[in-house]
Amino acid sequence: MMLKAVGWAERPFTHSSMNPSFSFSPRLVTKLDEVRAAIAAARRDGKTIGLVPTMGALHAGHLSLVKRSRQECGFTVTTIFVNPTQFGPREDFARYPRTLQTDLALLGPTGADVVFAPEAGDVYGPQHATYVEMHGVAEPWEGRCRPGHFRGVATVVLKLFNMVAPDRAYFGQKDYQQSLVIRRLVADLDLPIEVCVCPTVREPDGLALSSRNVYLSPAEREDALAIGRALRRAAELVQSGQREAAAVAEAMRAVLATAPGLRVEYLAVVDAETLQAIATIDRTVLAAIAAFVGPTRLIDNTLLSP
Ligand code: AMP
Repeated sequence: MMLKAVGWAERPFTHSSMNPSFSFSPRLVTKLDEVRAAIAAARRDGKTIGLVPTMGALHAGHLSLVKRSRQECGFTVTTIFVNPTQFGPREDFARYPRTLQTDLALLGPTGADVVFAPEAGDVYGPQHATYVEMHGVAEPWEGRCRPGHFRGVATVVLKLFNMVAPDRAYFGQKDYQQSLVIRRLVADLDLPIEVCVCPTVREPDGLALSSRNVYLSPAEREDALAIGRALRRAAELVQSGQREAAAVAEAMRAVLATAPGLRVEYLAVVDAETLQAIATIDRTVLAAIAAFVGPTRLIDNTLLSP
């Protein structure tokens, strides 16, 4: 690993190749002017800037975005911010896992340059009154089940885009509708940012990695596996020639019904661009599931091409 910390003399560092029991941590900054100064220095060195927005409680899915940014950009800013405005009043904002020290240790080996973890009060000042409202792709599915969620997401992502001014920003397909919302935001507001959507990272048994998986008991985790199975069943059916969206949806529901502790919130087999219902699978479609396993809400999806 290169000694990127040279010049950041205020922060002690170790070099993993010198002593494998130590790992190199990225630089943690909490203030906007500090992160902007670091980004300006990287820009002066001619580096492109990659942004990976996260809410922390990092896992291999997040790290895959950081690695991709590292491959494609000279300087990667990972943000860790549990954004209060995207949680509904009855959602898990208060108990959402916050694991900053572990996150920094996990980011070390990826070579993330800077971690920006602002305080909530610095992101949303006491007079904050501006929000991004989106129609269209923000309305169905997640938008309907979680009123205000995409308003919060679009607002914080626009703010992060303005704070960091990245050339590229990295998001996961795991939150597929969110990626469409971000693409729409960038197109509609003429933001000079390339949105990169990276594949969903899964456990070997097919469970999509999620910060919320830590909530699952062993029995709940077993039920949660039905989500991945249902998506694989959908892919098999389309691959073997099934073109009726309703038949694919029904087969997915049948798989989900085998998990006694799982309650489906929505199951969609829809146009992958518009998220609108389709009868015939004659283009790329999105198969998406939101389900509660006990009190934990999980989402997952796959794209199906005829
Ligand atoms: P979050 O911390 O949940 O807001 O997620 C931050 C980013 O990581 C989002 O762009 C997510 O889509 C992405 N992400 C979350 N889980 C995964 C996963 N299993 N594989 C790939 N990306 C993911």
